[in-house]
Amino acid sequence: MEGRVAGGEEEEWWAAMASMVRGSVGSLASGASLASLASSGDSSEASSLQDSSEGLARLDRQLSSSCSSLELEDIQEAIEGVRRTILQTEERTEARKELVHRLIRLRIRREDLEHRQYFLQPGQVQSLGHSLVPAEPGLAAARPAYCQECCGAAWPLLQAVYTCTTCSHTVHAACLTALRRACVGAFTTLVAGEQLGGHYDGSVSLSICPELSLAEQEYRCGECHSSLTPPGQARVCDYTGLSYCCSCHWGGLSPSPARILANWDFTPRPMAEASLQYLALVARRPSLRLSRGLQAVTEQVSGVVAMRHQLVAMKKYLVVCRLAQDEKILTKLKERQHFVEGPEMYSLQDLVDLESGQLASYLAATLAAFQEHIRACVLCTAKGFVCEVCTSTDLLFPFTPVVEACSSCQAVYHRDCFRSVAACPRCARRGRKLVEEKE
Ligand SMILES: [Zn+2]
Ligand SMILES: [Zn+2]
Ligand SMILES: [Zn+2]
Ligand SMILES: [Zn+2]
Ligand SMILES: [Zn+2]
Ligand SMILES: [Zn+2]
Repeated sequence: MEGRVAGGEEEEWWAAMASMVRGSVGSLASGASLASLASSGDSSEASSLQDSSEGLARLDRQLSSSCSSLELEDIQEAIEGVRRTILQTEERTEARKELVHRLIRLRIRREDLEHRQYFLQPGQVQSLGHSLVPAEPGLAAARPAYCQECCGAAWPLLQAVYTCTTCSHTVHAACLTALRRACVGAFTTLVAGEQLGGHYDGSVSLSICPELSLAEQEYRCGECHSSLTPPGQARVCDYTGLSYCCSCHWGGLSPSPARILANWDFTPRPMAEASLQYLALVARRPSLRLSRGLQAVTEQVSGVVAMRHQLVAMKKYLVVCRLAQDEKILTKLKERQHFVEGPEMYSLQDLVDLESGQLASYLAATLAAFQEHIRACVLCTAKGFVCEVCTSTDLLFPFTPVVEACSSCQAVYHRDCFRSVAACPRCARRGRKLVEEKE
């Protein structure tokens, strides 16, 4: 079998390539199916199509460098072109095999582009990880009134203004071509196993303003790398500890998560624009844990910690109760789903709300609603306890105030009653029963 494509065919191949790159499509119809083409080809054959590989590489570069700007029709045309060229190559040759692989890659790209277009909104632009959409004039009031690239005023009513659906980065349409700031929300689209370097990787930094000297930063802005001379103009970001130019750091303020956790200090600190965008983005992620020291120091904190433990104790009843599920009562916690999962983790927003007192009232209202269900529900009350020490008719639950549960059988007693007896009456009864059975 011949390893080389004959001269005449090579010329045709080049003609086809040229027409493909120019984007003109001939009327040549192709009846060959992908499966039959893929099954042909000889793997032992060495490729000798240097020239055509160059042409293909050129096409490849064109496709990969501008895939997002390349229209679906361009890819479709390229597919047609490759299909035509395949028919002109000899069967079972390296050349044909390579073209088949190219065809497969093109089809994958077409599919990817089709998917992306399906999810893109009209007018959506993707750049540096941002998904920018035209800002709606009606939403203008809720958005910053300045372009975060050129710092100029942005008037969505009068100008074309774009805003990122992930990080809220807001820019003039005219500034889209010269974006400097990469999307601080890039971590939200990572696939499993992928990791992101830098300060905006999805975690919350707990080092208090880890300041880097200007010399260590080589007198360059921490974001756009523009020169920071004279150094008097440099602005330090309390979150990253880096210095920035006045285009990247506008002096905006936010409480620092590190200072809150270490000193319960909520004083707003100056931060770079990127850090502010990032903190706004991760504010509702439950990634912070309160130290025992903090819980002991402030009553506000210990109160909320106690309420969250109560919440988890009530949840145990609600998740197994059919009637509670019908009432969808646990959806009351939908904006703070992590409160259902356990009592330990807090989001930055939780801590800000804790300090303002908002979290305590939110928790109190939720606990009241949960308790109301459990005390009124036939299924839940059947799982309540009666104190076996004093035998009062009070129905006790693990979340009832001033009760204590036996650590081995989980039975619940009034705290005073439980502490007045040497052993848990229920455990003692079970013990006696076991002895009787053995005898
Ligand atoms: Zn963005
Ligand atoms: Zn601008
Ligand atoms: Zn800068
Ligand atoms: Zn119930
Ligand atoms: Zn009792
Ligand atoms: Zn017990």
